[in-house]
Amino acid sequence: MSIYTIKEVSERLVKASRELYEQGLVRGTSGNMSAKIPGTDTFLIKPSGARMGFLKPEELVLVDLQGNKVRGELNVSLETPMHAVVYRARSDVQAVVHTHAPMATSFGIAKTDILPLQVEMFMLLPNGVPVVPFEQPGSETLAEAVQKKIADYDAVILENHGVVTVGPTIEVACNLNEMVEEAAKIQLAAMTLSGRDALDLAKLKEKFKT
Ligand SMILES: [Zn+2]
Repeated sequence: MSIYTIKEVSERLVKASRELYEQGLVRGTSGNMSAKIPGTDTFLIKPSGARMGFLKPEELVLVDLQGNKVRGELNVSLETPMHAVVYRARSDVQAVVHTHAPMATSFGIAKTDILPLQVEMFMLLPNGVPVVPFEQPGSETLAEAVQKKIADYDAVILENHGVVTVGPTIEVACNLNEMVEEAAKIQLAAMTLSGRDALDLAKLKEKFKT
């Protein structure tokens, strides 16, 4: 295992965490993110209780794909089982980002899926962002519920909780988290202006394909 690679992944994770904080997608100690160490069955994850905006590379904890700590001083994030299950389910996924982005989280409270109403969102997430039914944070049942959905979606909303996005790199998973929040804002505004007419997905699919 290359130490340089761990160092590189740590630095990218810290930078991305700071950016999510600066954009207001995470606040206080909420949210967590992780990334696989290329060529290994391990990933680095935020420690429990740390603030995303103020992480240090040496604070990140290295764990295996069962979620067991391999290296690190601090305790692993509460949501480590959810991250581990995503990596086990999707070999293409190299990074997992979980935030409590306020607008997307509000959609989860309203049990309302986010739909690809805007053309860029349609290209990124043509199937939209479904709501995963509520399970206790940090539980194996939450991890299982996310595993069921993540096979078909790169982004899901956790009911009354937050957002999970995945990607082939840290930056792609973060971009998706930002786009889900943006799509939630757009959907709310569109529904305010045009009611449920804005949600005619069949009509939109036809429009975007041509
Ligand atoms: Zn959470």
